[in-house]
Amino acid sequence: QDSRKYTGIVEDCCCDYETVDTINGDVLHPLLQGLVTTPFFRYFKVKLWCDCPFWPDDGMCKLRDCSVCECPENEFPESFRRPPLGLAADDLKCQEGKPEAAVDRTLDSKVFRGWIEVDNPWTVDDETDNGEMTYVNLLLNPERYTGYTGPSARRIWDAIYSENCPKYASGEICQEKKVLYKLISGLHSSISIHIAADYLLDETKNQWGTNPDLMYDRVLQYPERVRNLYFTFLFVLRAVTKAKDYLEQAEYDTGNPEEDLKAQSLIRQLLYNPKLQAACPVPFDEAKLWKGQSGPELKQQIQKQFRNISALMDCVGCEKCRLWGKLQVLGLGTALKILFSVDGEYRQDQHLQLQRNEVIALVNLLNRLSESIKLVQEMSPTFEKTMKGL
Ligand code: FAD
Repeated sequence: QDSRKYTGIVEDCCCDYETVDTINGDVLHPLLQGLVTTPFFRYFKVKLWCDCPFWPDDGMCKLRDCSVCECPENEFPESFRRPPLGLAADDLKCQEGKPEAAVDRTLDSKVFRGWIEVDNPWTVDDETDNGEMTYVNLLLNPERYTGYTGPSARRIWDAIYSENCPKYASGEICQEKKVLYKLISGLHSSISIHIAADYLLDETKNQWGTNPDLMYDRVLQYPERVRNLYFTFLFVLRAVTKAKDYLEQAEYDTGNPEEDLKAQSLIRQLLYNPKLQAACPVPFDEAKLWKGQSGPELKQQIQKQFRNISALMDCVGCEKCRLWGKLQVLGLGTALKILFSVDGEYRQDQHLQLQRNEVIALVNLLNRLSESIKLVQEMSPTFEKTMKGL
């Protein structure tokens, strides 16, 4: 018996749910999983200390590299107050409140070279802001449960939704505003799915695993959130395939020929995949947007809203969440830049220019979304009886 509860074409896209699941499971997910482990794609350059422009009063975000050190000491559990062996008491001032929220900055080699710095009008987090950036190995910092919750986290999501991309009223005719809302909601679904899929089940035993109830409570019971996840996936996939000439010719040199050839080969397999081209050649049709007289003005307005969302990432009061928040918002900003900078397909003579970091963010975002789609597909039958109307 078919347990699928969502069928038909993904709203505003060009492929149906079943095709997305098949193509993702058979082709995209395995390729992306390989790609993000290569040296080129696993190091992300990021400004991690928060410089929140909106709530300078937020105690979680006041000091460099230190998310919670402004909290009164008695708010910390005893175990966090005691310095771990080999660590001076002073060093503790800048530890995250939850150890699982801190970013591991270990790098095994220096691999950045030779890419240009260009502006991205959709984000405030591009590489032109070089001075404060550090390199992070993403494989050492998986997106997972960190314990970041409560008013600080809620304030960010509330600000994103209420100030920057208000939920569209049904019957809303402005397609472009719908797109922004759906992209953010799809990303939010994906973050929640990763929290639930890699959850601290037992703190005393340090036991990690899937928390299916949390996945259901936060995402699966809401058909719209699942739909928005599929939409965001197809949107980002379209951006990757649209920039295929650029991505194919880009420089993946990290000084490790074997690994760099692997990255290049996996990128080609992704961009020129016959199964993907046959099943879903144009995952999203961006040509339909920004038509009409108010198009350019609307585009500027939405660009400004997206930049605000990007700036809000500096207010995320948990280092690891900030890392993945920034990466994924930069990835979305890169997808927007690719889809809305130049009309039609890119050719060599056109001027799409991407930063190395943008390419890394874009591919890692696609991988996160691909993982989420797979998890939804795997987990949904578990809740078959309770899921209605997907
Ligand atoms: P939240 O997820 O905070 O949601 C707030 C409200 O938004 C909900 O009540 C609902 O009304 C609405 N909402 C929820 N999902 C959707 C959706 N898909 N579409 C539309 N509306 C929705 N925590 C971690 O443990 N690990 C992380 O890596 C992590 N990364 C984060 C990154 C960012 C950028 C932010 C802002 C937060 C992050 N968090 C992370 C915190 C996490 O997202 C939640 O805020 C936290 O777990 C509390 O969850 P909640 O149940 O209160 O609902």
